[in-house]
Amino acid sequence: MRIYSHEACLAHAPGPAHAERPDRLRAVTGALREAYPDLSWFEAPLATREQLRRVHDEALITRVLDTHVEDTIQLDPDTWLGPGSAEAGLRAAGAGIAAVDAVLGGDTRRAFCAVRPPGHHATVGENMGFCLFNSIAAAAAHAFDVHGLSRIAICDFDVHHGNGTQAIFERDPRVLFISSHQLPLYPDTGHTHERGVGNIINAPLPPGTDGAGFRAVWERDLLPALDAFAPELLMISAGFDTHRRDPLAQLELEAEDIGWITGQVVEIADRHCGGRVVSMLEGGYDLEALRECSVAHLDALRRGA
Ligand SMILES: [Zn+2]
Repeated sequence: MRIYSHEACLAHAPGPAHAERPDRLRAVTGALREAYPDLSWFEAPLATREQLRRVHDEALITRVLDTHVEDTIQLDPDTWLGPGSAEAGLRAAGAGIAAVDAVLGGDTRRAFCAVRPPGHHATVGENMGFCLFNSIAAAAAHAFDVHGLSRIAICDFDVHHGNGTQAIFERDPRVLFISSHQLPLYPDTGHTHERGVGNIINAPLPPGTDGAGFRAVWERDLLPALDAFAPELLMISAGFDTHRRDPLAQLELEAEDIGWITGQVVEIADRHCGGRVVSMLEGGYDLEALRECSVAHLDALRRGA
């Protein structure tokens, strides 16, 4: 089990009132260090432009990396770019890529990327929803191109739909993208009729859904499809904003539910791909919920790793 993170992820500062703040990451890394003193921590490297070009157009890459920023500028209603943002984005994407290299290279079976900003809303050409680069998509594309994989499953249980990841891979049958999320809620995509080329499965949950409702949907609609796909690598967009304390959404999950879904995914990885799982932090905006959920997530990820 490896953790990838980097101090530079704290330097992306969208402003004091912004929900996607550096303290989120401090809460996660602090809780993990306290709960699991024996974890192996690795510095996230910088992603390269080549690695980002696999999933983003040149205009997006240039906008994030080459804009001269003295204070902060707004890229969309929710997404800000400041002096530390470019490196934070590169470290977040680089973490996923390094984690893929470690897991597919046989150095470890499981990796968690404790990074920010999150990535799953970034599309090929658009920064949106707090996201600069789509880190999990860049990591999956790296696994295809460099490691020659042919089937990767991405499970996204963030409370928001991973519209960027879906848009990047909706014509690519090598990827199975499975998402549960609250609807209606930003970005208002992720309806069940969005099927890609048969490789997208969306399970919208109404506001107020609790852990039992969440588990039922995964057991009935999502886990069987994941099992049938028989992935060669399992990736997780781990958002912890489904927790009942989260201020941005209205689901009613507890940390135990995050531990449960992680355990289910790990079991399928054990069955099909030697237990290989790469998980990346996405959202989660209540600090206590972030602490509890990251500890529960890691507890299940570490099992048997
Ligand atoms: Zn989210």
